[in-house]
Amino acid sequence: MIIYGTNGSHVRTEPRPGLACPACTTPDALHLSVFSRYAHIYWIPVVPYTKPAVAQCLHCQSAWALAELPAEAGEVKQALRTFRKETRAPWWQWSGLAALVVLAVWGFIMSQQNTRDNAAYIAAPRVGDIYTVRANDSTGKAQYSLLKVVSAQGNTVELVGNDYVSDNAEPLGLLNDPEKYSKQTFPLTFLDLQVMMNKGEITDVDRLEE
Ligand SMILES: [Zn+2]
Repeated sequence: MIIYGTNGSHVRTEPRPGLACPACTTPDALHLSVFSRYAHIYWIPVVPYTKPAVAQCLHCQSAWALAELPAEAGEVKQALRTFRKETRAPWWQWSGLAALVVLAVWGFIMSQQNTRDNAAYIAAPRVGDIYTVRANDSTGKAQYSLLKVVSAQGNTVELVGNDYVSDNAEPLGLLNDPEKYSKQTFPLTFLDLQVMMNKGEITDVDRLEE
């Protein structure tokens, strides 16, 4: 369950001399205030969405939201509207959205880096490289396993296959145990590896020593 909701905070209050109170007509007793309401997820502010503005008379304690001000108080209304326009929601009310953007950018950079690494590793295999391979089972569901390079000579590698499969697309942590690999090796050429990569049969390359 995701816990979410809205909350608000006070942004600023200023006296506004020169304006008379619409109720008691006392001059120079009006204060204008702006608040900011924001949406939160798990109490982390995500995005501000509205700025309620209030005029309050310190003399008679009357208070009005922008829409509640009487028609004859046009000057107060205009001042409050301008004050609200000039007031920005505090930066921290954007922090959830900012964090999401940073995460998305970071994820994108990491995935670009991984794609570059994969291309470099598959072009020049080394002993210990581990390939994540994908194959569909009889129902068409993707199953993943591992191949490990045990020797690389000329343009050929000798590989051992993992005896286990997983429906987890990143099975390294699950399956990369020396005892889970077959004792039987088989050869593939660098070109075979490249073709498997291009076809999406090899989905990832890990070089753990680095
Ligand atoms: Zn008043």
